[in-house]
Amino acid sequence: MAVLPVLTWGDPHLKINSADVGQWTPELEQLVADMFETTLDEEGLGLAAPQVGVNLNLAVIDCSCGEDPAQQIILINPEITREEGVQYGTEGCLSIPGIREELERPQKVWIRNRTKEGAWVELEGEDLLARAFCHEIDHLRGRLFVEYFGPVKRSVLQRKYQKQLKG
Ligand SMILES: [Zn+2]
Repeated sequence: MAVLPVLTWGDPHLKINSADVGQWTPELEQLVADMFETTLDEEGLGLAAPQVGVNLNLAVIDCSCGEDPAQQIILINPEITREEGVQYGTEGCLSIPGIREELERPQKVWIRNRTKEGAWVELEGEDLLARAFCHEIDHLRGRLFVEYFGPVKRSVLQRKYQKQLKG
């Protein structure tokens, strides 16, 4: 397994709609293993393939931060089918290091997700997992969490982010 370089805010890979994953291959298996390793190394909760330069509808989530293999989730061509309620919490992104902001998300979401074998299953996420589902699926649609904010706040965040890159 290898830790992959994570692309950052402004990179074109983070701005486009990704393509669906086709047949599962050993290369994808390797990519997913590396993505879990990278998530752990960066102390994140999840990582989407576009963040490592692969524009496929593929993401990994591990809300246990490497503590519990049963909590490792692979999202393949995921789609949100239902949302319920509202939660408020701080969100961050491995592609925008140093920036954490309060963001409203649904309390609970249901997604339609593909398995490696090609079957469709429904997954349900609450609280942190619901937030992770939304965040990673946004990446697959070319959307970063800072894009939920208005232009004024976004440019403040951008300046803050660029300032700390230099510092
Ligand atoms: Zn992110």
